[in-house]
Amino acid sequence: MNRELTFNDQLIYSGALLLADKKERKNMLHFQGTFVDISPSGTLRIHDQSSLVCDAQGKITWIGDTAEAKKRFPNATLHTFQEGSFVLPGFVDCHIHFPQNRIIGAVESDLLHWLDHHVWPEERKYKDEAFSKMMAQEFVHNLLSNGTTAALVFGSQFSSATDHLFEEGLRQQMALVTGLTLQDRHTHPELEYTAREIRPHIESMISKWHQKERLRYVVTSRFSPACSPSLLKMMGEIIKQDSSLYFQTHINESHAEIEWVKQLFPECEDYLASYEQFDLLTSRSVFAHSIHTTEHELKRMGQHQCSVAHCPSSNAFLGSGSFSFKKHKEHDVQIAMGSDVAAGVSFSLWREMGHAHLIQMRLPEEERTFLDATQMLSSVTIDGAKALRLDHEIGNFESGKWADFIVFHPSKGRYLSKRFDECKDNSGHIDPKYIQKLLFQSALSYEDDMISHTFVKGKPVFQRECD
Ligand SMILES: [Zn+2]
Repeated sequence: MNRELTFNDQLIYSGALLLADKKERKNMLHFQGTFVDISPSGTLRIHDQSSLVCDAQGKITWIGDTAEAKKRFPNATLHTFQEGSFVLPGFVDCHIHFPQNRIIGAVESDLLHWLDHHVWPEERKYKDEAFSKMMAQEFVHNLLSNGTTAALVFGSQFSSATDHLFEEGLRQQMALVTGLTLQDRHTHPELEYTAREIRPHIESMISKWHQKERLRYVVTSRFSPACSPSLLKMMGEIIKQDSSLYFQTHINESHAEIEWVKQLFPECEDYLASYEQFDLLTSRSVFAHSIHTTEHELKRMGQHQCSVAHCPSSNAFLGSGSFSFKKHKEHDVQIAMGSDVAAGVSFSLWREMGHAHLIQMRLPEEERTFLDATQMLSSVTIDGAKALRLDHEIGNFESGKWADFIVFHPSKGRYLSKRFDECKDNSGHIDPKYIQKLLFQSALSYEDDMISHTFVKGKPVFQRECD
């Protein structure tokens, strides 16, 4: 059984009491445990039996040797994580849909039929204020309980529902980038708004939420088949007014979709051009899927410093195809990971890491990328932070970044219960080679119990209750 924590809750673990003050926290916090992250040079970094100290605002001020930490910060409140656990940076989900929370696994033969039969009927329900408020809380809880502390989210088409999502992200103090999902054709009349109708709502939402604490606004096109040229043009105009705004959409997910784009945009040389002609390719543009993207498109995405969100389980679920790490890397396109709920089959980026490996192994050998644990962990932490241009704030354990992290227990997995002991050398220290193996195995055999806590800005926001 899980529960969500408020800032006033108390957590008990390792026999120690963690007090989250009812008043604003005055003291620094000193966390003691084994911290694993990706270094700025891209290597797996292990701070074995070390300390992380964060200030009263929740920013990391120091990471390293525990004796030194105690000397430097004698008044910091000490919290010790259980042996056998690792502390990992909070995960970054770069593609997920808020109003699809409850249709995971709703089966269909392909993307376009799935949209008609499951997505449009479900997304219409978010017009109801009470329902959408409840779902915002459920959605954010699902993110946090799966270790996701930053996310790029397709919001609802309805302003009130997307407002509820922002409110919940603010309440939990997480890094949430979201915005109204825009579409004006080929979906359902209740979900469609013309550029003229929706523009004032977008502008008021940007002034209300963009850069409020850790919230950001993303101009969101469902995909170009559902957006008329006038709607796409309006999106480009809004982005041009403020270079700190994001853009997100889908691209090159299925062959039928690509054919449809050709018919709807006969003047465009390819799918990417349907966005490019309206200046929607920026360093803050994130394109989901990008499975069948051509070399010519990749070249332009790289030139504009766009990012892509790889969504492995979704691609398998809808039979859309296999993503190529190699081709995107050849063109310096930043790759991040997305759960793509609800075509993705869970909120867990651990599971997405495992699915990513399985999908690569289906590719012919010459096209395959063998993902090691470093690449897997990188894809859900620092690579996601880079795609969101937030790598100065999140993604690994560096001074000045937010203390967003998860407490991970591989030994809680039924297949890995004894493996942690094998990670230690004769002197009791952790051997990095075994951590690589353990993380890889964790991704392939992930179970929910393996994440015990999630912290945002040094504050507990989720604790899994044990039987
Ligand atoms: Zn999607």
